[in-house]
Amino acid sequence: MTHVVACLDGLDPEYLAAVETPGWDRIAARGDAGTCEGLVPSLTNVNNVGIVTASFPAENGVTGNTYYDPERDEQAYMNDASLLRRRTELQRRADRGETVAALVAKDKLVGMVGQDCDLAASAEDPPDWLADAVGEPPGIYSGGASAWLMDAAVHVLDERDPDVLYVSTTDVIPHKHGPEETAAEEWVRELDAGVAALAERSDALVATADHGMNRKSVCVDIEAALDREELDAEVVRLITDEHTYHHQNLGGAAYVYLEDGSADALAPLADIDGVEEVLPATEAAERFRLPTDAIGDALVLGTESSVFGPVEEGVRGSVELRSHGSHHERRVPYVASTGATLDYNIEAFRGLE
Ligand SMILES: [Zn+2]
Repeated sequence: MTHVVACLDGLDPEYLAAVETPGWDRIAARGDAGTCEGLVPSLTNVNNVGIVTASFPAENGVTGNTYYDPERDEQAYMNDASLLRRRTELQRRADRGETVAALVAKDKLVGMVGQDCDLAASAEDPPDWLADAVGEPPGIYSGGASAWLMDAAVHVLDERDPDVLYVSTTDVIPHKHGPEETAAEEWVRELDAGVAALAERSDALVATADHGMNRKSVCVDIEAALDREELDAEVVRLITDEHTYHHQNLGGAAYVYLEDGSADALAPLADIDGVEEVLPATEAAERFRLPTDAIGDALVLGTESSVFGPVEEGVRGSVELRSHGSHHERRVPYVASTGATLDYNIEAFRGLE
C-alpha cells in the first residue's frame, strides 16, 4: 500500500484553470476533482497542520503563522510542535506500524508536520542523501523549489517505499506572479507533472492546497486605527513569519488582544475601507472553528484586495503585491484518485480511504 497526500502551497484555482493539466485531469477522470474550503485564516501553517491532523484549529490549536503569548507578552512564530493539541494522521499511521514520510518546503514546518516520521525533510535543509540523489535544492525563495520537492517525493517513493507520504510545496511563485504569467504557468505544469508521477506510484493520492492567492492594492494599518481610537491593544498579523520575501508580512487576517474592554470597542475598525469584518472572538471561533482561548478578543479580516500592515501616514495606504490570509483565499482545488469528494482540504487523509 502506498498513500500520498500533496499540499500544493498557494495553488489558487485560477492558476490551475490557466494551464493545461493533463496529469491532474487523468487522475480526475478515474477519481474526483473540484474545489473545496480551506481553513481561515487562510495561511500556510494553519492549513498544513489542519491537513496533517485532519482537524480544525479549535481541535489542533494552530491559529496562524504567528501567535501572541499574553503571559510572556510577546509574539512568536507558530512553529513549535508543542503548540499542537492533536496528533497528526502521520503519527497515527506510524503507531499502526506504517512507515511514514514527510517532505516540506521550510525547515520550520518539519517540527510540526514531521513528528515521529521515519523520514522528515525540508527543501530548505535536506539530508545529504536526498540532495545527492535529486540535486541540490534551488533555494526556497526560487521558483524551482516546488518542483524539487515533487522530484524528491518521487525519489522517496521509488527508493524508500513508505506506506504514506505527505509532501508540501511552497507558494513563492503565486506570491510573485499572476496566473497568466509564464513563471506561474511553468510552476503549475511542474506541479501537474509531479502529481501525475506520484499518482503513478501510489494506490491512493489526494492533492489539494493550503490557500489561494489574490492581488492586493490596499494596506490598512490596524495599529494606527486603534491608536486613533485611543485603544491599547496587541495586534497579531497572522501571516507574519521569517520568510518575508514571499509576502512582506502583509496578509488579510489579524487577531486583536485588547488591554481592557470588550470587542464592541473595535466596531469603528469595520468602517475602514479595506476592513471587511471585525468578528468578536466567540463569533469568529464559531464561524471558522477556531479555539476561543488563542485568538484574543477579535478576528479582523481584510477584503479581496486588502492586507494589514504598517503605512507611512494615516490608516490606509497603497501596496502592490499578491497575498492571502482572509476568507477570500480559502477556496482551493483538490483531486482524489479514490473518487472521494472533499468539502474541506483537511479531509485529504480521509479521502485516501
Ligand atoms: Zn501557503
